[in-house]
Formats: sequence, structure tokens, C-alpha cells
Amino acid sequence: MAATEATDPVPGEAPVGLVLVSHSAQLAEGAADLARAMAGEEVRIVAAGGMAPPETALGTDAVRVAAAIEEAWSERGVLVLMDLGSALLSAEMALELLPEGHRKRVLLSAAPLVEGAVAAAVASRLGEPIERVASEATSSLDAKRAQVGGPSEASAAPADEPGPVLPGVETRIAVDIPLGLHARPAARLIRATAGLNAQVLAGNATTGSAMVTARSLNALAGLQVREGHELLVTASGPDAQKAIDALRALAARRFDEPAVPRDGPPATAPAPPTARPLPPALPPTGLEGELRGVPASAGIAIGTLQFLEEADLTASDAEAGDPAKELQALELAVTAARRDLEQLRDQTRTRAGSYEAEIVDADLLFLEDPELLEPTRAAITDRRLTAARAWSEVSLRLGESWERLEDPTMRLRAADLAGVSRRVLHRLLGRPAPVLRRRGILVARDLAPTDTAALDPARVMGIATAGGGPTSHSAILARALGIPAVVGLGDALLAMAPGQSALLDGGRGTLILDPAAALVRRARAQAREEQRRAAHAAAAAHQPAVTRDGVVIEVAANIGGAEEASRAVEAGADGVGLLRTEFLFMEAESLPGEEAQERIYSEIATRLEGRPLTIRTLDVGADKPLPYLRSVHEDNPALGLRGIRLGLAQPEVLIAQLRAVVATARRSPVRVMFPMVSSAGEVDAARALLTEAAGSEPLSLEVGVMVEIPSAALSAAQLAERVDFFSLGTNDLSQYTLAADRGNAEVATLADAFHPATLRLIAATVRAARARGRWVGVCGELAGQIEAVPLLIGLGVRELSVAVPAVARIKEAVRAADSGACVRLARRALRLADGSAVRGLISGASGRATIAPRHGSPAPSRRASTRSSATTPHG
Ligand code: PEP
Ligand code: MG
Repeated sequence: MAATEATDPVPGEAPVGLVLVSHSAQLAEGAADLARAMAGEEVRIVAAGGMAPPETALGTDAVRVAAAIEEAWSERGVLVLMDLGSALLSAEMALELLPEGHRKRVLLSAAPLVEGAVAAAVASRLGEPIERVASEATSSLDAKRAQVGGPSEASAAPADEPGPVLPGVETRIAVDIPLGLHARPAARLIRATAGLNAQVLAGNATTGSAMVTARSLNALAGLQVREGHELLVTASGPDAQKAIDALRALAARRFDEPAVPRDGPPATAPAPPTARPLPPALPPTGLEGELRGVPASAGIAIGTLQFLEEADLTASDAEAGDPAKELQALELAVTAARRDLEQLRDQTRTRAGSYEAEIVDADLLFLEDPELLEPTRAAITDRRLTAARAWSEVSLRLGESWERLEDPTMRLRAADLAGVSRRVLHRLLGRPAPVLRRRGILVARDLAPTDTAALDPARVMGIATAGGGPTSHSAILARALGIPAVVGLGDALLAMAPGQSALLDGGRGTLILDPAAALVRRARAQAREEQRRAAHAAAAAHQPAVTRDGVVIEVAANIGGAEEASRAVEAGADGVGLLRTEFLFMEAESLPGEEAQERIYSEIATRLEGRPLTIRTLDVGADKPLPYLRSVHEDNPALGLRGIRLGLAQPEVLIAQLRAVVATARRSPVRVMFPMVSSAGEVDAARALLTEAAGSEPLSLEVGVMVEIPSAALSAAQLAERVDFFSLGTNDLSQYTLAADRGNAEVATLADAFHPATLRLIAATVRAARARGRWVGVCGELAGQIEAVPLLIGLGVRELSVAVPAVARIKEAVRAADSGACVRLARRALRLADGSAVRGLISGASGRATIAPRHGSPAPSRRASTRSSATTPHG
């Protein structure tokens, strides 16, 4: 528990006020008298006991509590102490009745009523800030405990240890993520305590900000928490402990931010497979008619300028007839907008990926945000505004406060709010959604991420905006959707005529109006070449991937849900090499039972139409948390109880999953694989559970393990005696081999799957597998990198499982390879010193036969090769 410095009260500012809520009016009055006797009259202590009328009835009343809070009001805040049961409920309801500005400074305390009131009154009289007053109240039983016996509150939570935090007290959380508490980590913070019965407040301890509700994205943004800042969090209520634990666990996982933030400009952000940069086609600068902006998504677009036609969303300022009807209209519009956004989020997950879907998911929080909804409701009831007018005013005001934030990345989030706000206004005013009438380069002042996510790449050739930035959510989504984009072109863009021809270079950040014919020819030639390659790969996507010399490589997909299974089939995947089952259940509140799991696995298998489905058992822990299975803080979660370790520690969970897998395998081709295996004993234990799950019926599925820990690679001979196949998880394998946290942006590049040390472990795994006649696949990100294909083939890998959008081009890369040349390449790579030497070797070889492109030539006929037929460097 961190101490908060006492500060002198500002002259004229009343000390922290106290409200005592009890089921009995007499008890509340008595406790208030006692506290006044100790602290004097300066502290406003207001009793809110019993129900009205009759005064003698036992119970609590939210309206009474709200009135008492107003009576005890001080700019320093009000602490509410409660006795039992519904007192907390009434106090929480009372908060809802308060004006927004006041609510932020009210803290509900879990302290005992009488002792807490006295201790709090004394601390308040001394001019302590509200957090300190609250913490004094919570520790108020210590003296009694010391005398009567039993642990003291203070000794239960030593100051510097991350032990349990008691209800009603504070904790501090270091925010060490690159962009600070930006929209998505803030959204995760809100979601981490959603559903808990706790009032959670947060403040920026580094800047000494006010405490705000940790349920509001808008309020959290106002804290301006940057990297290196410390967050002060207080929780009160029955689930205060759980709330604090959940937040600490989230912080320990670095707010679940990905290893390399994709918010960076395109130069630093990893380009998703669909958004491969084209080489710049244009001369550097100074062309006539050239507008220079900021590169946001690489690629060239040649077409006409098309303005997004947006309906007039001005809300009338006429007084509303019936506030009740307006309130209802607001609820309906918000619900409809929420439904739209949920649909868009799910589509985005399929079209762009899970990370991008989270952008839309974070926007959904605006629709639940008390900072937005409550003032809107108040404006409807108090000022009799129409719902549209009230919503428009409040969201505009909040948008302005986002724009005033110091952090430029946070400022860009104003566009997120504007997009959500417009969606609700469309509903309220009954106006149509914005449309792009013709195919072309979309021009807009700015685009909300939710607008970008909904764009159809077949219609939108490129995006040009006057405002925005490369780290805006729109830019991230444009990159993920593979739409070239330039942002920040300035207001001059908006003066252009619709239909004017233009050439947009997303890699360079330029828009050339009425480009010269030679320039267009050059850009077109490059774009055509790129398209031809993509089309060629796509046309052959449903053919097997066979090397020039006849080695068959299965190119499968990594998926996290049923929708993605269908996309995998459409993309030409030969099967699913990795179903991350933990992704299926991330949004659930608890793990679905065996039957529900079987339903979803079967649905995925059905969508695969007979192609093999590799189901990985839950890989929970470290970068893939599932709070309801495990929310315990670990100092080193990557080295902690995760993957199969957690499965064996909670066998009832693993066995339920295995029963569902076995049942699915009775009808469809299914393989099962265990994650994070470090030694043979774990495989034996997991297989014993599998046998138990199968019961008396014979098992008809292949069993494999992920090789993603160096000890597994080095024990591959022993593991191969126990399983049918290995799948190399190169993401974790490189993190553990190079001792570089894949979630830590500062060292993430060290976790290099191309490092010869990682490659040697792959080679050792393949060697041991082949000695026992087992096959080896790769399902880590390395498999989806074109440059890695010849290397992996040369190392003897026979299945590459990759992200869905990468399937076609990886198949194409296989077809361009010659396995003999690949083996020679791999042999040389194994002797090199580091990852960059390996990359150098590959790029040198790419001009030679190893991966010489062979566009246009027909795929060779599939020879009688099998996954284990090619020579390896050791074969
Ligand atoms: C890996 O570690 O390479 C892997 C595929 O598993 P995940 O990324 O799910 O940890
Ligand atoms: Mg892994």
C-alpha cells in the first residue's frame, strides 16, 4: 500500500466529507456523533440511515445517500462508509444520481462503519487527501486487532510486496508500454474489472491527477498516462481484491500489448501479408500537382478522386417534446450502433486479424461510457434537448477534450470517438450511412477507424485524407486491409474536384494530381507486376504446393475461430496446422463445457470439408491470458504455469477439452497437439489423460507436440518415441533460445527465428523425428515468411502452417524452390554466426535456383513424395 503525502487544505477548501450509510437511522446518527466528537465540527459528517418514510424502517435509500453526499460535499471529495448488505447497493445507486463532476470525487469505503468513521474523520480533519482518509478508515481495526489478536490489515499487505491488496485501499501500477495507456490498453483495463462488484478509480500518480472512474475510456484518456508513468488505483466494494488482482495481472502482462506495436508508422510497423509495400514508383519530390502527406499504408493507386458522401448530421436545436421518448430513442440508437459495431468487429477479425478487430472492440466502449451517456441523458431530462442534439453536443465536447490532450497519439483517438458518435447520429436522425458512389481513390477530411474497417477494397483503390496520422487506427486498418493510404495531405485536398485523376503512392506519402502519362505508365507497370504475382499465386492457391523437384509441402492455416476456417478453405489451405483454442474462448466469461467445445470443434471440422484439423489444447498463460482459468500474478509468466503445465495442473479442464477433441475426431480428420512441452514426462501425463478421455473406444487421431522450448528440441528423440508429429512454434522457440521476451518491444528483434541457434534446434528436431519416421511442421510466424521457405524445406520441414492471407504466396514460394538447393542453403545457414548473416545468405541465393521465381509456368505434377521423403542437411 503506497502512502500518499498529506497536503495542507487549500485555504477555504473544506476537508474531505464523510457520509455514513446504515440500515438504522439511529446507528448512522450515533456513529456520526461519535466521529464529530473526535474530529470536531470542521469535517462535514452526514448520516444517511434508514428509509423514508417511516423513519424507523430498517433499510437503505439511494436518494437519501445521494442527498447526504451533496450535503457533505467538499472539493477534496467525499468518503462513504457503509454497514451491511444493500448499503453498498444503495451507495452505488446514489453515485449514479450525482452530477458527473461530483461522482468522480466520491470513494466508497469497505471500512467498518463505526471505527472507520472515527479514523476517517480524524484524518480528514488533518487535511489528508481522500485516498489517505480512505486508507486510514480501512486500517481502523488494526489497534483493536492488535489487542484482541488476529492479523492486522497493515501486516497482511506489506508495503513493497505484491501481496494481496485489501478492499478500499490503493495500489500503484507502473505503465511501461511504449505508447502509454492508449485506447486499447485502457479498454483492456476497463474490461479487466467489468462485471466485478467493485468501484475502481484510477489516477495518474506521476502527474498527480484527480481520480477518475476506471469504467470510462474518456476519463482514463484524460489522465494522460504515458510510458513510465505510474497509475494509482483504488478499489472498494466486495470484489475490490479481485479487481486489484486483475489489474495487477494485466499490468504484469504489459496490458496485453503485442510485442511490436503496430501503431508505429509504416516504416517500423510490420506490414501485414496483404499490405506488401510496392517499391516507390515516383521520383522524390517537386512534381507539379503533387500533394505531400504522410505515408500510412504502402502501395500505389491510380484512379479518380472520389469523395465520401456523408449525410448532414446536424441535429435540430428545437426543444424535445417528451424527454422519456428521447431517452428511449437514445437507448435504441446506442443499441443499434453497438450491434453494427459488433458485427464490424467480427468481420474485421476475419478480414484483417484479431489485433485490428480489437480497435473496433475498443470503440464499442464509447457506447458504454458513463462520461458520454450520463451527460447526454442529463441534457435530455434537464435541458429538454432532443436525443440527437444532446448526443451531438456531449460527444463533440468530449472529442474536443481528446484533441486537447498533449500526447499526439492520444489526440488521434478523437477520430475514433467521432466515428462512433456519427454512427449513433445516423440512427437517431434516420440518415443513411456514408457511401462511395464510384470506384476510385477515396478522399475525406479524416476517416474514423470504424469507417475504414467497413471499406470494400474492391471499390476503394486508395485512401487520401486531409487530416489523420500514420498511427491512427484508420491507418492501421488500411494497412491490414491492404489499401494504399496517405494521410495528413492538408485542406488543399478537399478543394480538389471529384473525378480528377490522381496517382497515390502510399509508401512515399504523395498524391499526384493529373499525373504525366509516363509516370502513370511506370507506376502501372509496377502495380501490374505485383498484381500478376498475387493473381498467379491466388489462381494456383488450390493446387498442392510441390517443389520443382517434386517434394510435397503441406501449406496449412493457423486459425482462431470457425469463420477463419472457411476463409482458410477459400484461400487454398490444405488444412489447419494450428487451431489456437484459447482464442475461441477469449470472450467467454468461463470455459465452455465439453459439449459446447465439441460443437465448435465439429463446426470448424465441417467447414474444412475433410481437410485435417490440428487442435492445440489450451495454451493459456503469459501472452495469452484467459482470466477465468488463471489470473494469478506471476513475476515471470513466460516461464510460469502456462500451456501444458497449466493443463496438467488443472486436469479436469484438459480432460474436458480432450473429450471434446476425441468426439470430434470420431467424425472428422483431427490431430491433437500439446503446447509448451518441455519434457517427456509431460507427454506421458497428457497422453494418459487422452487415453482416459477416449474411454474404451480405440483412438483414431494423430498426437503431436509443439516444439517451442529448447529442451523439447534437444529431447526430440525421446519425445518422438511418444508422438506422431512435431510442430515447431518458432515464436516461442526463438524467444526462449535467445532469452528475449517476444512481448518486449525493446528486445523483440533479438528473438530472431532466423538466428542459426534457432535453426540448429529446428535441425535437431527434424533429425530426431526422421529417425523415428515422424513428420515435422512449423506453425510459428517463420513459416509465413517467404524468405524462410527454402530454409525450412532445406531443414526437412514438411508442413508450413501460416496466417490465412499468406497461404497462396507461401504455396507459390514452395513451387519456386528446389529441395536439393534448399538443403545446400540450409547447411550453409547452420554454419553462420547470426540472423542477419542468414538473411544475407538467403537474399544472395534468391537470384539463384533455390527460390528462383517461376511465374507463369504450370505447377509440376504431384510426385509420389511424402512429407518425409526429401533429403535434409542430415539425411
Ligand atoms: C509459437 O510459439 O510459435 C506458436 C505458434 O504458438 P503461439 O504463437 O500461439 O504461442
Ligand atoms: Mg507458442
